[in-house]
Amino acid sequence: MTGTPPTRELAHLPGPALASALSSGSIVVLPIGAIEHHGPHLPLSTDWLMADLVSTDVVAAAVEAGLDVWRLPAIAYGKSDEHFWAPGTMWVSWETLMREVVELGDAVAATPARTLVIYNGHGGNLALLQVALREIRKRTGLRTFLMGVSIKAAVDEPGGLDERGFGIHGGHEETSLVAYLRPDLVDLSKADRWVPDHLADLELVRFNGGPVQFGWLSNDFDDAGVIGDARFASAEHGAVVHERAVAHGVAALGEIARFRHRPDGPAPIEAALLDDAGGAR
Ligand SMILES: [Zn+2]
Repeated sequence: MTGTPPTRELAHLPGPALASALSSGSIVVLPIGAIEHHGPHLPLSTDWLMADLVSTDVVAAAVEAGLDVWRLPAIAYGKSDEHFWAPGTMWVSWETLMREVVELGDAVAATPARTLVIYNGHGGNLALLQVALREIRKRTGLRTFLMGVSIKAAVDEPGGLDERGFGIHGGHEETSLVAYLRPDLVDLSKADRWVPDHLADLELVRFNGGPVQFGWLSNDFDDAGVIGDARFASAEHGAVVHERAVAHGVAALGEIARFRHRPDGPAPIEAALLDDAGGAR
């Protein structure tokens, strides 16, 4: 990798160096988190920490695997209106966040890179980012992708863990990951089980992804504002979650690098060169 700048932090490059370091085949990763209430056991910065630290490791591992990936500084403030009631939640309106993300898309389009990947650490940002993805593509022609910090529960769960599919905020996986990333900021002695059991038997009206969705604020279910079972969380399990999240991120970036919208379309790099020359898409 002679001649390649040692950093993959895009903002640490001098401006003129960026123009020659990035090419139309480069992938730019924009992490985004949140500063929001996560209960008594986790810091407000939980979602930002995950987006920032895990994306750093994903980008490093992807570069190691031969991909041309660059990372932007993580956006700390997200759409956290479901936690607006909790002091310390620092959030911006959906209009503000939408403008920021879409306008950052314009800024990425002004670099040689033609692929933008948003790396999200907060579920509350999701719907907005899905809309931004298409808006940025329409405005700039960038290839746009959205992925999350992958902390899906797997088979190695401890006995007694009982989230009933509701480990979505401050639960087992998230608490474990932050306990691994920043053990100094996590107080596992305050971890508890906060699960809305009365919703678990509903078939159609479900949390995220069910056929019938419902509007909710994080203090609708109880006063804790946490949804999950954090009692068995540990830094050891967090190390496993982290390893999985990095492997998932690298695999996802690999597919993104190969992705083309049409089966017979040009490879991404050729397509970007056509775009640069003002050619038809
Ligand atoms: Zn969270």
